Amino acid sequence: MNINNILYSGFEFSEDESLLKFKFKLININLFIVAIFAALFAIFSDLGINDIGRIQTNIDYLNSVFCVMVFFFLRSSKNNFLLSARLLLAILFMTFIVALIYVPQDEFRLVWFYLLTYTAFILLGSISGIFISIVSIIIILTANYFLDLQLSQYAMVTSLFGLIIFTLLSKAYTDRVVSYENTLSEKNKSLQLLASTDSLTGITNRRYFDEISNNYFETSQRYKNDLTLMLLDLDYFKKVNDNYGHGVGDQVLISFVNKIKLMLRKSDVFARVGGEEFAILLFKTDAESANVLAKKICKRLEEVFVECKDMKISTTASIGISQNLESDEIFNEIYLRSDKALYQAKDEGRNRACVH
Ligand code: GH3
Ligand code: MG
Ligand code: MG
Repeated sequence: MNINNILYSGFEFSEDESLLKFKFKLININLFIVAIFAALFAIFSDLGINDIGRIQTNIDYLNSVFCVMVFFFLRSSKNNFLLSARLLLAILFMTFIVALIYVPQDEFRLVWFYLLTYTAFILLGSISGIFISIVSIIIILTANYFLDLQLSQYAMVTSLFGLIIFTLLSKAYTDRVVSYENTLSEKNKSLQLLASTDSLTGITNRRYFDEISNNYFETSQRYKNDLTLMLLDLDYFKKVNDNYGHGVGDQVLISFVNKIKLMLRKSDVFARVGGEEFAILLFKTDAESANVLAKKICKRLEEVFVECKDMKISTTASIGISQNLESDEIFNEIYLRSDKALYQAKDEGRNRACVH
């Protein structure tokens, strides 16, 4: 078990979970520190080096054992984080309240409530931090009233004011971190979208298509699912550009994409893989069904004209189809067969689909 495995409880975190990942590190470090220091306090007390009384000593032993238990509980599921953080805070709270009452000889024991508040803020956020802080203040004020060896009024005022200021600063800092994290994650998402989308047509671009087609391929081969690739190339597209200009050509491409989009399922991946070349990856679909779809696409393209600047432009496409074979080792093998089929469709007169 290496150090990262311990700090992150053996889990993997996506980019979106970077704050949660950081919190896992913090809670595990916290659990370790508390487990070790609580045990040291108890052992020193039992050795007579730093006598904190029987009750506090036993509570510290318990505290140490609880922290180890929470450490293992957290490792069993990522979803246990919230409960683990609450358990850690409850353990700490109990320990510090017992210390407040049963170790009156320690004039500095209120310091532990600062640690508690800070831990609540960073692990559970602003609301929990404020809640713990208010409950701490109420308990400190109430408990002091019943203590034999009461904290002086000056000690109380200083420590409570300190705790309030500390709470406000922690809140400001926590809110900033959370809002920074949210902004960053939103920016990451839009960057990811930008990097995976074709700017003209809004569909998947070549780069992202290459990335996901490999994933689709590996899953399909592993589970023996059908996977079919259609490659589409617009016929005589150069003529469209030559006759009407590049701007109209672009409009034709957009209209072509919109027409085809309506004919696809959500699970199909539709990508622009070249200037006027497109790919459709059909998951759990065999070549025969893809051929039926391809024929429908050809028919639809013939029927519908692109209306642009009062002109009606007709575009057709040639389509090459190929399905995964058990012997395929990489996705490119399907791609090459589809490309061959596409050439065949062009050779045989265009505006048709061929299967390879
Ligand atoms: P074929 O039937 O053999 O496919 O004939 P074609 O004219 O379509 O030939 P080819 O596929 O070789 O030519 C593609 C043309 O598509 C060339 C290029 O000017 C045009 N093109 C590529 N990308 C774009 C684009 O983003 N916008 C526009 N308007 N035209 C593009
Ligand atoms: Mg082409
Ligand atoms: Mg073409």
